Amino acid sequence: MRIAVVSDIHANLAALEAVLAHAAASGRVDGVWNTGDCVGYGPQPGECIARMREAGAVWVAGNHERAATGAISTDEFNPQAAASAIWTAARLSADEKSFLDSLPETASQPDFTLVHGTLRWPIWEYLSDYDSARAQLSLQSTPFAVVGHTHVPMVVVEDERSDKGCEMRRLKAGEVIDLSREHRLVLNPGSVGQPRDGDHRASYGIYDSEAATFTLHRVEYEITATQRLMEDAGLPAWLIERLAIGR
Ligand code: ZN
Repeated sequence: MRIAVVSDIHANLAALEAVLAHAAASGRVDGVWNTGDCVGYGPQPGECIARMREAGAVWVAGNHERAATGAISTDEFNPQAAASAIWTAARLSADEKSFLDSLPETASQPDFTLVHGTLRWPIWEYLSDYDSARAQLSLQSTPFAVVGHTHVPMVVVEDERSDKGCEMRRLKAGEVIDLSREHRLVLNPGSVGQPRDGDHRASYGIYDSEAATFTLHRVEYEITATQRLMEDAGLPAWLIERLAIGR
């Protein structure tokens, strides 16, 4: 089984299509796992929701799905994120909103748990330090998990001999992670539609259950196409600029 693992698409259809085409060009794709924030920031929320529904994605909600339907308030969002959430909410149909509201906060797949933030705080917590990594591992009942939310591709490897309890590091393009079950892991495939690790290319992973590997990929896409749609929509300038610098 080969699964395309995507997160933080953020209504960037050009990036999403590039990633799905890249996955299909590399071999048979049996499914898609999506760890949330399909909408928000970008210009094509409805199109990205439709694309993921069409792919039959296993999908958990992020904070931006919840904000787009009004299920959570945007008080905790920064001003640009709040503006884009309001813009998104005004463009989604009642059907799209009820679909987003039906998404769970966690999902189980064989050997894997999917969650946007962490199992401690599924919608909101950034898994970006040892405290949040340990909390995730202590609540994780499967050998592996996929998270999103930080927009930075990363692996956490449980290590009970280390006083920190685990090791964590960023993933490079093309890097292959061995899933031979010697250690429990948390994987973050990075962001399809708004990378923040200084690399502007769309980020995603492929999980191959037979080979027992997770491979991180980076894919070029037409950033200017998305930026033009954002300008036409009147979305905040920083959200447009950051796509080109991957921040
Ligand atoms: Zn996000």
